[in-house]
Amino acid sequence: MVESQNCKYHPTAVACWRCRHCDVKFCNACVPEDTRSYLPKCTLCRRSLESLSIAQSIPPFWQKIGYLLLLPFNPASLVLISVFAVVFSLLPFGKIGAILFLLGLLPLIEFFFAAMESVASGENLKLKVSDFLTAKSKSMFIKLMLIYVFSVVLIVKLSAISSVIGIILAGFLILGLPASIIILMMEKSMFSMINPVKVGYIINLFGKAYIVLYAVILLASVLGIESFQLVESSSGFAKRLVVNWGLLYLTMIVFLMAGYLVYQFHQELNFTINRQTIFQVVDGPKADPMAEVNIMIQEGRFEDAQRMLLDKIKENELDYKASEKLIMLYAIQGQLSFLDKIAQSYFEVMVENRKVRHAAEFYFKLSKKKIDFTPNSIDVVAAITEEMKNKTQFLVALELIEKFNQKFKMVTGWERLYFTQAQLLVEFANRLPEAKLSLETILKRGTDQELLGKAENYLKAFE
Ligand SMILES: [Zn+2]
Ligand SMILES: [Zn+2]
Repeated sequence: MVESQNCKYHPTAVACWRCRHCDVKFCNACVPEDTRSYLPKCTLCRRSLESLSIAQSIPPFWQKIGYLLLLPFNPASLVLISVFAVVFSLLPFGKIGAILFLLGLLPLIEFFFAAMESVASGENLKLKVSDFLTAKSKSMFIKLMLIYVFSVVLIVKLSAISSVIGIILAGFLILGLPASIIILMMEKSMFSMINPVKVGYIINLFGKAYIVLYAVILLASVLGIESFQLVESSSGFAKRLVVNWGLLYLTMIVFLMAGYLVYQFHQELNFTINRQTIFQVVDGPKADPMAEVNIMIQEGRFEDAQRMLLDKIKENELDYKASEKLIMLYAIQGQLSFLDKIAQSYFEVMVENRKVRHAAEFYFKLSKKKIDFTPNSIDVVAAITEEMKNKTQFLVALELIEKFNQKFKMVTGWERLYFTQAQLLVEFANRLPEAKLSLETILKRGTDQELLGKAENYLKAFE
């Protein structure tokens, strides 16, 4: 039997994560982002999850070639490529020209690395010329050159001792060049760049993609050498400009491809830049903050679910979804004293924060589900019953006012409730005699001057 590749809790979604311990697969919706650790944790056992090769679900770069070829066509890249193409075309030949050329490469390589990093983080190319001018140099080119010189010296020295070792080392360095560049981009470290374990890891991980990237680099180099000879032999500025432009463009594309490769293998590379992008790239449901709680409920682990919800509420008392879920959970389990405690503070917080409409809807929902609850605060009752002055909710509002009045009699501010009650009775329930009774009670026993006036006017209006 073929093992299902789908999420246990969302059978239609492709799983991206697996817990070895629980032997459960999760989709992205089930795995909330954890900013504190690189790999998300299993909801059921809190161990780190392993990724089910997300690289598989992102198309390889040769399928995205059109996209990559078009990427440099943004103002920042075009300006820089063109400026440097002009500069390089103006350089004199000979030693001075070569030195100036190397100096020119300094900022350019920096820019290419930045572009590569941008693609690697899945952000397309958001480079601006101003970013480039103000960017802090990471000395990428210097690092590259130092390692290059160091490697050449090392190979020459070793070849003097044993030509076989020299050839093997040279082969490894040539083969490992793209991997080294990728490591340099990721870690900005010269020493990691020549770490054979890391280079080997990347080559092994990328596999076929590495060979394709290598072929592209070879092709670009051959084209480069060919056109360089053309430039050397031709004295026309325009011709040199075109060739230089083409070469710079091609070089940039190679960097972008390498960046895309990193993007694709992001997860496996243990590369911590902007992990969020992986969540945005993979199709399927988006991470749901309640996913973990839902899983716990589905697994019948109510206490764990309750603990998670309490944590959420503690973190943010305005997380009304968490409060509502917890209230429902307590209701299902008949834990009425807990229900009352959470619901009291939920309604108070909601009313204080002017989320009265939402609170009223939730109260309505509770009453439809026959969950008995009466807020202790008259402010809460006054606010939500005021919101329930409509054809669908007025009966629930009337019931609530009655329950409250029975429980608390005439607490300070009671006139407001009586007035709302009268309005509900007149405007929606068509129970005039009862409304009249409420208004008369306000007039007889009320002390709130404003409401006394209101009650008087209201009474006059329907007489
Ligand atoms: Zn899921
Ligand atoms: Zn687990």
